[in-house]
Amino acid sequence: MRSADVVDWGRPLQVRLHDTPAPGPREVRIRLSYCGVCHSDVHVRAGYFDMGGGKRVSFAERGVALPVTMGHEPLGIVDAIGSDVTEVSVGQTCLVYPWTGCGNCRFCERGEDNLCATPAYLGIGRPGGFATHMLVPDPRYLIDSSGIDPAHASTLACSGLTAYAAVRKLGAIDPQDWVAVVGCGGLGLIGISILRGLGHENIIACDLDDAKLAAAEARGAARCVNLSAGNGAQQLHAISPGGVFGIVDFVGAESTASLAVPGLRPGGRFVLVGLFGGGLALPLPVFGMREIAILGSKVGTLQDLREIVELVRQGKVEPSPIQLRTLDQAEQSLEDLEAGHVTGRIVLDMTAEP
Ligand SMILES: [Zn+2]
Ligand SMILES: [Zn+2]
Repeated sequence: MRSADVVDWGRPLQVRLHDTPAPGPREVRIRLSYCGVCHSDVHVRAGYFDMGGGKRVSFAERGVALPVTMGHEPLGIVDAIGSDVTEVSVGQTCLVYPWTGCGNCRFCERGEDNLCATPAYLGIGRPGGFATHMLVPDPRYLIDSSGIDPAHASTLACSGLTAYAAVRKLGAIDPQDWVAVVGCGGLGLIGISILRGLGHENIIACDLDDAKLAAAEARGAARCVNLSAGNGAQQLHAISPGGVFGIVDFVGAESTASLAVPGLRPGGRFVLVGLFGGGLALPLPVFGMREIAILGSKVGTLQDLREIVELVRQGKVEPSPIQLRTLDQAEQSLEDLEAGHVTGRIVLDMTAEP
């Protein structure tokens, strides 16, 4: 098998040959067809997340050992199963839920592997989908995505799932209320599409880039706010006097998260998803006085992934636009993402790999 690996933190990926692993008793081996490339892969390759105030959380300190085969939007064909696997058979096409936990704790038993205290995510703690083959620890992580174009379906495992779980954390949305989507890259565009698919129309797209705002408008955003003027909260109030009900922040920078307190109406919710990094000092009394909430959202559960797959299958949600590249272009793809040059999602196409 071939895979594009992080061999040294912060250094370019190397495409290398390995022995193709045999599945253990409950494991399933996937012959990869497609795997999306995520902006968080840029952070993984760098080896750390910026926590603000000069603090960093490094993957090495968290016990992630090199080499790392990234890729957490995998879709492929079952090509070998372990001796105790009866749920899937060889030849089946499956989308892989990559946010795998220990498999034994109370979170994992509820399908909330994404909250497991000792996770081993596919593409970070375990080898992922920038490869021709990968092992999935249990067939319960395989999801039927038939009826959806497979290259698009792969992007649901992270970008679709993350956007869906974040939007669901807003709870029931009054049709008269406004929801701002901050950051209109791949995640933001699918977030807007999900809001529309769930029946909500009062959507404000927020970004620094007019081209991305135009793409958001084409996806169904009713209004656009360019945040580069620095008066984002004022612009939200101009559209929704008193503030908006919801803000979903797919950027997660100090400048975007600082919209929460001045931008929300009383009872409003701010869902923080993006991992750009930084820190924030907030006036505490406003949380009680105005009953606003800041919620974090981290990818999503197995059930969330089944639900977003179903919404796409029914044609209610349009996945992000994609551009296909080869496994050998994985490194270039990360560099393009880092430089901010990508609209929609890059998907590696392994269907022509020997
Ligand atoms: Zn991702
Ligand atoms: Zn667990």
